[in-house]
Amino acid sequence: MSDVTALPVANRLPIVAGDSSPAAARQEPRAASRMTTQSASPIKTASGQLVDRFGRVHRSLRVSVIDACNIRCQYCMPAVGVQFLPREHLLSFDHIERFVRTAVALGISKVRLTGGEPLLRPELHSLVARLRAIDGLQQLALTTNGMLLDNQIDSLVSAGLQRINISLDTLSEPTFRQLTRREGLDRVLAGIEATRRFPQLELRLNSLVLRDVNLDDIYDLVDFAQQRQCTLRFIEFMPLDSDRQWSQARMVRGDELRGLLAERFGPLLRCADADPSQPSSDYQFASGGGRVGFIDSVSQPFCAGCDRLRLTADGKLRNCLFGRDEWDVGEVLRKEPFDSRALQALLCAGTLAKHAAHGIDAPDFRPPERAMYQIGG
Ligand code: SAM
Ligand code: SF4
Repeated sequence: MSDVTALPVANRLPIVAGDSSPAAARQEPRAASRMTTQSASPIKTASGQLVDRFGRVHRSLRVSVIDACNIRCQYCMPAVGVQFLPREHLLSFDHIERFVRTAVALGISKVRLTGGEPLLRPELHSLVARLRAIDGLQQLALTTNGMLLDNQIDSLVSAGLQRINISLDTLSEPTFRQLTRREGLDRVLAGIEATRRFPQLELRLNSLVLRDVNLDDIYDLVDFAQQRQCTLRFIEFMPLDSDRQWSQARMVRGDELRGLLAERFGPLLRCADADPSQPSSDYQFASGGGRVGFIDSVSQPFCAGCDRLRLTADGKLRNCLFGRDEWDVGEVLRKEPFDSRALQALLCAGTLAKHAAHGIDAPDFRPPERAMYQIGG
């Protein structure tokens, strides 16, 4: 990681000028940088890109289009009493397009739509078409629980969607019900099959394992993915659930999963990293078959290569899943006439305030106030 003093001066000016102290390396609340529109200073970094104090160039953006969901995964949402944002608090498609255009002009080249459950947002395909028309946007992806996918996949693909991640944690309906507090595994499976009709669409399956719920399902999930020749990725349970039920004991580390899979299927060979900014470490079974990826965000944080920013459904810019800082870009997006320089300034400020690492292994770590469904995973 580069020393902050080696960065161009313009990269060091606003908000947290040159603070490379150990405290800054952890995610802590920073009243000074919170929800601010200040920054008369540079609108762009010297390179014209979103570069943080540690030299990380930001190219990826997660856009949450809604916080609501049609299931209630234990690791994300509360069982009851969840309050979703009123419709009028969600950014409109015009606002999202404005934001993405501005971010792309600053070097963002990959966008992933997420939520909540993004397919609950009416006419999502029209947003896909609008974003795909942006010059410089190279990759447009979607993360979904798949429940509504079989009805929407045709329009999403026609609109230009390029990649899709579908969450699949089990192949057993009782376990699905236990994990999501809803019925509907058949809907998810129908969504996966509908998606497979489009070989041009890059499909990945994401699984999250809770030791006390679906650890036994990992073998069936690997078989399922291999039979369909698609990549399966196991994501470690992170302390981002609204019930605050996360614990080391419930989380299953990636290295434990690799050990269990190797016992059943034979040795796993590490694949070369195609893209160091990707959070997943990919493996292949020595016996052949498809790839299995591991996103070990807790046990092996990949902060050093993180190139992500996030836009929440209510218009807040975040620079880290685990951070507590937000920048109110919604205010700028909703104001007429649109001031693109003010938005650029917020994007630069949010990027510059990014810490070196998420700090969840620190004894004084406090999870963010928002749960995963309110941030956009
Ligand atoms: N509803 C969609 C879905 O589930 O795919 C998109 C939003 S969801 C928040 C995105 C991803 O976040 C899912 O793959 C889900 O497994 C993951 N996720 C949710 N809560 C998590 C947690 N506490 N730790 C790690 N991943 C989590
Ligand atoms: Fe909904 Fe996705 Fe959260 Fe599950 S992980 S509750 S599907 S937003």
